[in-house]
Amino acid sequence: MTSGTSTLTKRVLLAAPRGYCAGVDRAVVAVEKALETYGAPVYVRKEIVHNKYVVETLSERGAIFVNETDEVPEGARLVFSAHGVSPAVRESAAARSLDTIDATCPLVTKVHKEAVRFAKDDYDILLIGHTGHEEVEGTAGEAPDHVQVVNSPDEVDQVTVRDPAKVVWISQTTLSVDETMETVRRLRERFPSLQDPPSDDICYATQNRQVAVKKLAPECDVVIVVGSANSSNSVRLVEVALQAGARSAYRVDRSSEIDEAWLEGATTVGVTSGASVPEILVRDVLALLEGRGFDDVQEVRTATEDLMFSLPRELRAGLKAAGADDKRPHKESRKELPLA
Ligand code: SF4
Repeated sequence: MTSGTSTLTKRVLLAAPRGYCAGVDRAVVAVEKALETYGAPVYVRKEIVHNKYVVETLSERGAIFVNETDEVPEGARLVFSAHGVSPAVRESAAARSLDTIDATCPLVTKVHKEAVRFAKDDYDILLIGHTGHEEVEGTAGEAPDHVQVVNSPDEVDQVTVRDPAKVVWISQTTLSVDETMETVRRLRERFPSLQDPPSDDICYATQNRQVAVKKLAPECDVVIVVGSANSSNSVRLVEVALQAGARSAYRVDRSSEIDEAWLEGATTVGVTSGASVPEILVRDVLALLEGRGFDDVQEVRTATEDLMFSLPRELRAGLKAAGADDKRPHKESRKELPLA
């Protein structure tokens, strides 16, 4: 496949699904609607979703991103990000009388509920995920006395539990499916009674994007993943592409970060994007590639997504009171736009 000759057709394999998931769409629209309805400023705890462009765009419109609730003036409006928060954060917001809008993805909330339930039944809960990631902090915070975080298969040997017959694993929603299954396999070797979570914790969007990139990767000289460095599912897409046979794979926030040297001698470039990435950034990458002769764009679709979550309850109530509708202003941005 790789060739330095210019006579071969240069093509792009464009993964689908890619980009915005239902949880990100809901969270971004929640901030947009809060700004429209209540006016600026609207405070947001942490990045609403892990994407630089989204955060910059919302900041320009009047959102103020903070790290903790004590940076928000008493009584002000605060949105919790899609990654979720621990009960301690909710309590500190309540203590400051903040008017909160909870944009936690419902699929993250589902994992929180699992943690609460298994803690109530006094299980040792092994949370497979990345220490320091906001989602992991939020989930672990639901049951700090019962949860221990397992970062990778290599950490399995250090895990200690009170009763090996009463252990369950749950996970962060945005992990590599294959690596997580390897961690579970090793945990089960040590704890044969290890219980599985009631349903997949790695969400549909993470899984679908990994399946799509796996399909195109073996044919690619280069795979370009659009997504920010702190976006777990974007970073995983680079790893998955390489494991699936891509000759090289890179993550970029935007097209200007593409190094021309990556494209030298390449004839097939794969393109995908993480679940927090607006389609406009992918279009910019395709435009750059077109300018370098990669003008044959072929979509590689492995699933169709039409999931959509309703807006946060507090916001819907606020919109109703203000006589505003809760239509999604940029619903089209999460669909696959027709290729130019
Ligand atoms: S990546 Fe999955 S869990 Fe995270 S916001 Fe999107 S749908 Fe929800």
